[in-house]
Amino acid sequence: MKLKTRIHLSSTLLMLLVLLLVNAVIYLTFSNQTYSTEEDRLRAETELLVAALSRNDNIPRETVLRAYVPASGAVQVKDGAGTVMTSIQDPAITAAFPDIPGSGAGQTDVEGEPFAFVKAPIIWSDGSVMELTVAQSMAQPAANLQNLLLLLAIVTAVAMIPIFLSSRFLGKLVAQPIQELTGTMRRIQENGQFEKLPEEKVNSDELGEMTHTFNRMMELLEENYSKQEDFVSNASHELKTPLTVIRGYAKLLRRQGLRNEQVAEESLTAIEVESVRMAAMIEQLLNLAGASESKLEMKQVDVLQLLEEITAAMNTAYDRQFILEKEIADAIERTDPEKLKQILYILLDNARKYSEDRVELIISDQGGTVIQIRDYGVGIPKQSLPLVFDRFYRVDKARSRDTGGFGLGLSLAKELAERLELALEIESIEGMGTTISVRFSSKSHVHALQLEQEGSR
Ligand code: ADP
Repeated sequence: MKLKTRIHLSSTLLMLLVLLLVNAVIYLTFSNQTYSTEEDRLRAETELLVAALSRNDNIPRETVLRAYVPASGAVQVKDGAGTVMTSIQDPAITAAFPDIPGSGAGQTDVEGEPFAFVKAPIIWSDGSVMELTVAQSMAQPAANLQNLLLLLAIVTAVAMIPIFLSSRFLGKLVAQPIQELTGTMRRIQENGQFEKLPEEKVNSDELGEMTHTFNRMMELLEENYSKQEDFVSNASHELKTPLTVIRGYAKLLRRQGLRNEQVAEESLTAIEVESVRMAAMIEQLLNLAGASESKLEMKQVDVLQLLEEITAAMNTAYDRQFILEKEIADAIERTDPEKLKQILYILLDNARKYSEDRVELIISDQGGTVIQIRDYGVGIPKQSLPLVFDRFYRVDKARSRDTGGFGLGLSLAKELAERLELALEIESIEGMGTTISVRFSSKSHVHALQLEQEGSR
């Protein structure tokens, strides 16, 4: 069943139930009250009659009884053996006087007509004790109650018309934006295009929020999709370059290489260099693809020690000065050490590639641990600073090619940093040098006290 129909039917049914319940309560209260009022009245009249009978004046009992017969009612006197002594009834009553069993007061049915009755003992003229029964027809109150029932049924039926219409409107109100959303999704599915829902006429309610969220999701998907497209086209473009070189040299080798040893040597060297380059690039691409999926292994890391190891490794590997400056005594952070190393190696490698002087690693406390990698090299032009973290972006393509760069290092570093909740900040002055800061969030910091506690466990 459609949501619209479900809302329509369930709210109509619910309202009908509420109305029926209210009506039932009204009817029952009213009928109880009517019958008990009638009974009370009859009881009071009987008491008056008993009092009149017990007054020992000279009026015959029959006359007193006749005077007290209630309208649409009857009185009857029976002796101890159950023989009817006197029975008087209002001419309006067609039914025979009810033979009412038991004693006290109550209600009974005579030939389908409801009666209220009250019984009381009286002293008859001969001094014997008789049973007096006063009965009163309840046909009129019953007819009134019947009318009330009819009235309530009509009111319910009339009230159901606006309820039916308004719940239909409610169903439409809720289901329409959902239908529009589904329609748009279906169109997107069929056309493979990113489409948004119109936002001008939506309110600031839950449905408006849903439309808004859907549109933001579409924007994000579109953005990611176009980034992905750019990435694929850039990657294939970058891979084409070494392939073109390899194919060119292979052709040269086929044409002249077999006869000319120098050409053969030159061609094979170029083919080897380009294939190594291609392999390196593919490896970086795979690294980048895996960066968002590989599992994090978070642990407490002594960052000072990790920096010492990295500095020593860089000093051994390259003929360059890497200097570690420690401005804090300890730095224990919760992080993934392998991924942190990967980030730092990318930054140090860049600092090395784009400078010729010393490279400094500075660790300090700036409201949280910060590692800075500073070089005194070519620097980055101001307009390029916001772009260096983009995939395949290189400031100077020719120079980067010489240094073996593909423009993927910093984007990988950024991706890893985001996963480790590290902030990467870059400052650079062209011709002066570059400083990249890796900032730990204060919540990753492990305090000495915490360390002691964990150690003693
Ligand atoms: P690449 O592999 O080309 O170095 P990156 O993504 O690591 O790619 O860097 C992007 C570009 O940013 C580089 O091509 C380079 O132009 C510039 N760059 C990065 N680090 C530095 C630095 N320390 N000094 C100067 N330029 C840098």
